[in-house]
Amino acid sequence: MTQSAISLRGLAKTYAGGKQALKGIDLEIPRGSMFGLLGPNGAGKSTLINILAGLVNKTGGTANVWGFDIDDHPRNAKRSIGIVPQELVFDAFFTPFETLELQAGLFGVPKAERRTMELLRAVHLDDKAHVYSRTLSGGMKRRLLVAKALVHNPPVLVLDEPTAGVDIELRQQLWDYVRTLHAGGTTVVLTTHYLEEAEALCDRIAIVNQGSIVANDLTSVLLSTAGDKKLIVTVDRDLTAVPPGLEERTELKGDRVLTLTYDKRSRNAGQVLAAVAAAGLGVVDVSTQEADLEDVFLELTRA
Ligand code: ADP
Ligand code: MG
Repeated sequence: MTQSAISLRGLAKTYAGGKQALKGIDLEIPRGSMFGLLGPNGAGKSTLINILAGLVNKTGGTANVWGFDIDDHPRNAKRSIGIVPQELVFDAFFTPFETLELQAGLFGVPKAERRTMELLRAVHLDDKAHVYSRTLSGGMKRRLLVAKALVHNPPVLVLDEPTAGVDIELRQQLWDYVRTLHAGGTTVVLTTHYLEEAEALCDRIAIVNQGSIVANDLTSVLLSTAGDKKLIVTVDRDLTAVPPGLEERTELKGDRVLTLTYDKRSRNAGQVLAAVAAAGLGVVDVSTQEADLEDVFLELTRA
C-alpha cells in the first residue's frame, strides 16, 4: 500500500513502430498535490497519461493508482482516476446531460448518487445541458470532458494539456474550478508544455524530456534554481574575505576569484559588477555560468 496518488516504477513504452516514448519512468505523485507534468511536445506526457487511462498498454514497469496496481486491480485503479484526454473525443449526437449520464452508467454510479446537473453547473454548461454536443465550442467541449471525468467522483483528476483550444476567460474559469476541486481534497495532475501554466498552478513539477524525467521538485525550489545565474570574477588584488556590500551568495574561490550567485529575475550582471567596483575592486576578468536547471527549462520550453 502506497501513500502516493500515483506511483510509477520503471514505466516504459515502446510503440509498435519502435518509438521509445517512455524510457523507464520512476515517479511518485503525492496525494493531495497539484502536480504538473511539464515537457515539450513529444516528450511522452500523453503516453504516460494514456497508460493510466488504460488506453495505451505499457511495455515495461509498473503503475499504481491510489494504491491499486493497474495490472492486478484494473477496475479499482480506473475508479480512482478521472482523465481529461488531450484529444477532444466526445459523442457528437448525445447532449452533455446524456453524455454524463452514460458515463455514470459505465462506472455503475446509482441514479440517486448522480450529480449530472451539479457537474454541468460547475463547468458552466447547465444552459447547454440538452443541446447536441457537436454544437459546442472547443472550450465547451473541454469543460464537458472535465465534467465527464468527474462523474464517478475520483480522488485523482488528470488533465492532459487542458488549455488547448480554450480561450483565456474560460481558461480562468476552468482553473478556478480545478482549484476548487483541489481545495476540496482532489489530487490534480496536469500536463502542459507551458512553463508559466505549471508555475501558476502546481505545487510540484516534474519535467519530462524524451521519455525520461529530468527534474522533479517543489515548484518553488525549481524556480529558485532556475532563476540563478553565476558571475565568476577575477579581481586585481588578493583577498582574504568576501568584501562587504556584495551579493549575499558570494564565495571566495582562491585569492583573487569571486563567484557571485544572483537571481537574474531581479538583478543583472551590470548591477552585480557595479557592486564589485563599489567595493573598491578592479575587475580583471569575468565569466558567467547558468544554473543547469535553467538550461533544462530553456531547452524544454523552446518552441
Ligand atoms: P506528449 O504528450 O508529451 O506530446 P506523446 O506521449 O504524445 O508526447 O508522444 C511521445 C512520443 O511517442 C512521440 O515521439 C510520439 O510521436 C510518439 N507516439 C505517440 N503516440 C504514438 C503511437 N500511437 N504510435 C507511435 N508513436 C507514437
Ligand atoms: Mg500530449
